[in-house]
Amino acid sequence: MDKRKNKHRYLLSIRNRIFVFAILVTAIPSLSMGLLLQNMLQTTLEEKVKQKFVDSAQIMEREISLWLKKRVYDLTVFSNASIVSEAVTAYLKMPEEKANGDENQHPNITILETYLSTLQHQFKGYVRILVLSRTGAVIAASESGGRDRPFTFPDDYIQQISDQQWFKSNAYIDARDKSPLILIGVPLFLDQLYEYETLLAIEVRLTGLLTLLDPVKFGDSGDWTYQSLVNMKTGQQFLYGRGAKKVLNQIDPSPSSDRQTLREYVNGKGERLMGLVVPFRELEWGLFIVENYEKAFSGVIHARHRNILIICCFSVLMGLVAYLLTRQIMVPLSALTRGAERVAEGDLNVLLPVRRNDEIGFATTVFNEMVAKLKLSQAELEQLATTDPLTGLNNRKRVMSILRDHYEYYRRYKTAFSVLMLDVDHFKDVNDTYGHQAGDTVLKQVAEIFNENLRNVDSAGRYGGEEFLVILAESGVEESIQAAERIRKAVASHTVIHEEQEIQVHISIGIGRIHKQDGDEQNIVARADMALYRAKDEGRNRVVYHAADDL
Ligand code: GH3
Ligand code: MG
Ligand code: MG
Repeated sequence: MDKRKNKHRYLLSIRNRIFVFAILVTAIPSLSMGLLLQNMLQTTLEEKVKQKFVDSAQIMEREISLWLKKRVYDLTVFSNASIVSEAVTAYLKMPEEKANGDENQHPNITILETYLSTLQHQFKGYVRILVLSRTGAVIAASESGGRDRPFTFPDDYIQQISDQQWFKSNAYIDARDKSPLILIGVPLFLDQLYEYETLLAIEVRLTGLLTLLDPVKFGDSGDWTYQSLVNMKTGQQFLYGRGAKKVLNQIDPSPSSDRQTLREYVNGKGERLMGLVVPFRELEWGLFIVENYEKAFSGVIHARHRNILIICCFSVLMGLVAYLLTRQIMVPLSALTRGAERVAEGDLNVLLPVRRNDEIGFATTVFNEMVAKLKLSQAELEQLATTDPLTGLNNRKRVMSILRDHYEYYRRYKTAFSVLMLDVDHFKDVNDTYGHQAGDTVLKQVAEIFNENLRNVDSAGRYGGEEFLVILAESGVEESIQAAERIRKAVASHTVIHEEQEIQVHISIGIGRIHKQDGDEQNIVARADMALYRAKDEGRNRVVYHAADDL
């Protein structure tokens, strides 16, 4: 058979189609359901993470406000100290040129600075305490040299004071130790009725806020959450929570672009992070808060892995079911195909086992019945091809074939046999006297007499017209002559009755025996024929044996 055709057939086989169908039917719905669920899960988780971040930021803002207010409160207390108001009042009353002269510092300022230094030492985290003029110039500083170091003075401090009675600067960096600082100040009212002329300010380290940035404080495990404070105007991060600097310092949080959207960041180390910049409502700062992606979305990642596993398991299971199902169909189907191929090759001895009571079982039963019928018709055909229709004896072709077999057997095993050639005497007269039908009846009854007088191992056949050939297997000369005589007598003593007419016939028989010099089966037939000729010649109704030597 064509190989390509075979391959094509294999690809389109029912087994493969069912297999592919089962896998698709399993995989497509599971995949789409999985994707849908995962999307839902991702969205829910994102919302949850975002809400957590926003909550954190709100708590943080409250804490920072409290922290600032605590400083403002301290400042207000300091500003009410009489030593401060007295010293500043004395300073303000000084002639202008003297006030600006650095060489001889006003004695009140010296007292004031000593007082400020004392205060500064009492409060941890205070870098400097300053008394400033309305323009931000330093009048007095808590530590020596404290006047010289620069600080950031807010441009909008007047606005801030009118809004909330205090002001604060942007975060700035201490040039000495790179720590972030902030300037917080209050107006110094010398007389409740007058406008303020001077400001009292503290420079504070923002590191005081670090404990607030510790994520553990907000109920998080803290191992995966990192936070920093961001200046919302510049986008600069200026204070990092525990462990956050390493993770966040290379990231640009760009708070101005997508505010309040959970965004994915990748830092310099290639870590995937989910983060959000939450601006504070009252400060121009914001909280930049990120969480390790895998930690934040471990639920989604787990769900994805679980879905893949479930889909794989289902696909394998369905594949197995499909395999078993197709096996149920394909095994008997291939048995049927093989059976049909054997029948096509001519082997009718095929009987397939019927094991099931389903369509396949039914098809197998029908197949078996078909083969049985074929076998029967073949047997009938064979019978027709080898039997003489009138007498039911072997036809000439068949009896000659049997003779050939005997001859072959003799050649191999030296089992001698005889051949009788029998001819109805004056048969033409029977036909002429009683009619052709009567002749047929005679032939039939003579044939029956042959069968009755022969052994199972012997064979009889119609050689032609009213001439018959009998093979006597494994028989000696005497036995053969006796058998022939028995037949002859039986025919002679038999009365054929045809349409109430009694017909008497007799036969002549010639006997030939196999001889070691015989080259084929024809010799023995020739001898039998010769013997028959002699029997006729000698007067008919007799048996003549033709020995091989007589040739
Ligand atoms: P002999 O004693 O010499 O054998 O004489 P015979 O008449 O038997 O021999 P012959 O060969 O002259 O005649 C044979 C006849 O048998 C001729 C033929 O019409 C007849 N015959 C051959 N086959 C059949 C048959 O099937 N049915 C009938 N009814 N007659 C047949
Ligand atoms: Mg005859
Ligand atoms: Mg004849």
